[in-house]
Amino acid sequence: METPQNESFRDTIGTLTEEGKRKWVFPKKPSGRFYDYRKWVSYILLAFFLLAPFIKINGNQFLMFNILERRFNIFGFPFWPQDFHLFVISMLIGVIFIALFTVAFGRIFCGWICPQTIFMEMVFRRIEYWIEGDRGAQMRLDRQEWNAEKIRKRGIKWSLFLVISFVIANVFLAYLIGSDKLINYITDGPLAHASTFISLVIFTAVFYFVFAWFREQVCIIACPYGRLQGVLLDNKSIVVAYDHKRGEGENGRKKFRKNEDREALGHGDCIDCFQCVNVCPTGIDIRNGTQLECVNCTACIDECDHIMESINLPKGLIRYASEENIEKKKKFEFTPRLKGYSAVLVILTGLLIGMLMLRNDVEARVLRLPGQLFEHKDNNIISNVFTYKLINKTTRDIPEIHFKLRSYNGTIKVVSAEDRFTVPMQGLAEGTMFIEIPQSELESDKTKLMIEVYSDDDLIETTTVNFLGPRSYK
Ligand code: SF4
Ligand code: SF4
Repeated sequence: METPQNESFRDTIGTLTEEGKRKWVFPKKPSGRFYDYRKWVSYILLAFFLLAPFIKINGNQFLMFNILERRFNIFGFPFWPQDFHLFVISMLIGVIFIALFTVAFGRIFCGWICPQTIFMEMVFRRIEYWIEGDRGAQMRLDRQEWNAEKIRKRGIKWSLFLVISFVIANVFLAYLIGSDKLINYITDGPLAHASTFISLVIFTAVFYFVFAWFREQVCIIACPYGRLQGVLLDNKSIVVAYDHKRGEGENGRKKFRKNEDREALGHGDCIDCFQCVNVCPTGIDIRNGTQLECVNCTACIDECDHIMESINLPKGLIRYASEENIEKKKKFEFTPRLKGYSAVLVILTGLLIGMLMLRNDVEARVLRLPGQLFEHKDNNIISNVFTYKLINKTTRDIPEIHFKLRSYNGTIKVVSAEDRFTVPMQGLAEGTMFIEIPQSELESDKTKLMIEVYSDDDLIETTTVNFLGPRSYK
């Protein structure tokens, strides 16, 4: 975006004083079209965030990121360590998806979807407005001595913040360890699972710190995505932008005066009322152009629209627009860069869907026992020993498991008390097996065998192994 001559705003962060101390932001309560839309989006997302770990599909938690046990569920699909490639691809798709949208629509993710913004602006900030009032009242309360009113208001606010942080920490834990485990732990009481309870206390403290104190600093200082904006955005990206051409006119912005012909005087439509600055939760002036701190929350669009309406000027002085759109009045274009990103996204998504569809409920691994070659038995039978591992990714036990050899007239002997066994749900079965084949059947000293895994009469998985035999086999 084109910026004004004076670029001194780039030397400092809007939320720091010249001495480097924190300048607390007291944003005006937003209202308007976009704020209403965002409220509805936030209700849906909050419901999703709070419920997702408690929803089950085929017995699988809808979303789970159990890092300690290396088990992940995404949209009800369980991912095991063996599926790590699928997990990586889905993460990659997520990153490319966000990058693609950033190129096209700027930080739309930050303003509308990011959990930090949703919780900060739509939960904690709204509680603050409810208890302490709007910007002016909050600033007065902040300045005043610690009297009964301030102690009461701050006490209620901080207590509520703590309770909500505790609730968020519990939900967060449900994502990490699984909702069933969380509910069991709650039923057992905190002393029965002290280490998990300590984690819960730490999470609560972190969330409280972030939402009660650190706030917009997360987006300005800590968030790596925010830092990428300089690389991802170009002059065709749609961002929340001030129409400087219209706002500044030929002779710059000027305070509003009744019955003054601003157009004749060459002044732009911006009446320098500072409402867009007062409403900004990151404390910036959007009229300085696109800035790293802007989370595209749209509060300044709504606020400026109110002002334009009140002075009978067209709305949209601040709006969603690209630099090109403002400079040349050009419409949105599907650029080669966007096409490239989309192509990669489509290929990766297709790959992921294909892999998910081809993925079996049961995964079989049969490996040669280390250090063992083959054994020559009576009647010219050659025997090899293998270990097997069967992973059941479903939420039901798989019974009557047994192995068969395809194409070869040999036998598979599983070293266990029973010929057929059960693989428990979400669990594994492992053991040792001997494969015996008459030497006359073998065509070389290394034969590729296909092993079929059956549950009762259903073929559920196939896997291959190399079977070793003597060099002079005939
Ligand atoms: S709210 Fe609109 S009119 Fe007021 S200062 Fe901001 S851009 Fe100018
Ligand atoms: S400049 Fe506008 S869109 Fe950007 S963070 Fe501030 S209020 Fe939100």
